[in-house]
Amino acid sequence: MASTPDSTHDADETTNAESEEPESALETARRQLQHAAEQLDIDQNIVERLKHPKKVHEVAVPIERDNGDVEVYTGYRAQHDSVRGPFKGGLRYHPDVTREECVGLGMWMTWKCAVMDIPFGGAKGGIAVNPKDLSDDEKEQLTRRFTDEIRAVIGPTKDIPAPDMGTDPQTMAWLMDAYSMQEGETIPGVVTGKPPIVGGSKGRDGAPGRSVAIITREAIDYYDKNIKETSIAVQGFGSVGSNAAKLLDDWGANVVAVSDVNGGIYDPNGLDTHAIPPHDEEPEAVMTHEAPETVTNDELLELDVDVVIPAAIGNVLTEDNADDITADIVIEGANGPTTSTASAIFAERDVPVIPDILANAGGVTVSYFEWLQDINRRAWSLERVNDELETEMLAAWADVRTEFEAHDVTWRDAAYIVALSRIADAHDTRGLWP
Ligand code: GLU
Repeated sequence: MASTPDSTHDADETTNAESEEPESALETARRQLQHAAEQLDIDQNIVERLKHPKKVHEVAVPIERDNGDVEVYTGYRAQHDSVRGPFKGGLRYHPDVTREECVGLGMWMTWKCAVMDIPFGGAKGGIAVNPKDLSDDEKEQLTRRFTDEIRAVIGPTKDIPAPDMGTDPQTMAWLMDAYSMQEGETIPGVVTGKPPIVGGSKGRDGAPGRSVAIITREAIDYYDKNIKETSIAVQGFGSVGSNAAKLLDDWGANVVAVSDVNGGIYDPNGLDTHAIPPHDEEPEAVMTHEAPETVTNDELLELDVDVVIPAAIGNVLTEDNADDITADIVIEGANGPTTSTASAIFAERDVPVIPDILANAGGVTVSYFEWLQDINRRAWSLERVNDELETEMLAAWADVRTEFEAHDVTWRDAAYIVALSRIADAHDTRGLWP
């Protein structure tokens, strides 16, 4: 599913391109790490440590289906690195979840937290299941049983899950409840992305989309464009895509195309994004919205726009379409939307690709705010959350921009340089024990 890239034509990438094998998130993440480490002259011993997750937990998760049958699913929690703080990262319910994917996505969480300079490490977990095949009762059972199976290795100072594909605030509330019941006390800080009534942060739901919008706005400005004269196509109208599209629309951009899994709509004069409910609220809303043209998800990416934002799933920008993307700037809203080969093509064509580990990092940043609120037992206002998110995003953008300008590298490499320097410094300072 998710997988990303970097901007060199190394042997691996060529092999990969010729064989047309889809990249696993782990292969891509390791390749990116190695490539960025070479740019940085980072101690190879530390790179070696970072190539391997600290631990991967694999558990059986049996539940009784509504029809009385027992079904056993497989759940994972891959804990990559915790040198800068507790493991942190989402839980994904999706049929393609594998051990490898969790490790790769967990690595990306390590870099994402380090780019944002928040005191967490990286993890990812999930269950190989299609949540659409389960009733609410079955999802609740699955979540509670999975939580119990991994209870010993999670906690507010150990590893803090959050929502990801196929999970939502309700899933996090069940996780928090299952954990708290077993521990004998209410422990909201074990998970983030909860509903605010049980310790969730205001603004957490919209945060990944908000950060995508902020970074898009900064990139538009960096490349000397006026946001009011900028056309934008957004692939995906879930939490990330819909929130990013609406904010950019509010800030004067011309959002001309949006899509969901059913396809997309296009209006060169701009869509009224606020009139389209997000996919999770109304699954048919995008395609039933009045618009002069419909487009497929592939066509949307190739529209003649200034900015394209893939904000749905991984591996949508590939060697097959990278040459046909006409947008001047690509902003990665999803985790891993660009394959290695596509990244290399964009680098050659000088098309800036602002990476996921910066652009969508608002999610984990507000997760950090939520964790602080849980520990302090004091809720922040939505205004405070959004103000502090803006401050953190601008600081991270400035850090990445500094590296981008200082070295002849892609935006992805620049973000990796920021992240890896912090992680390597922390490893170096703490040392290898015993
Ligand atoms: N799943 C989100 C991500 O990929 C958020 C993780 C978190 O908040 O811990 O960034």
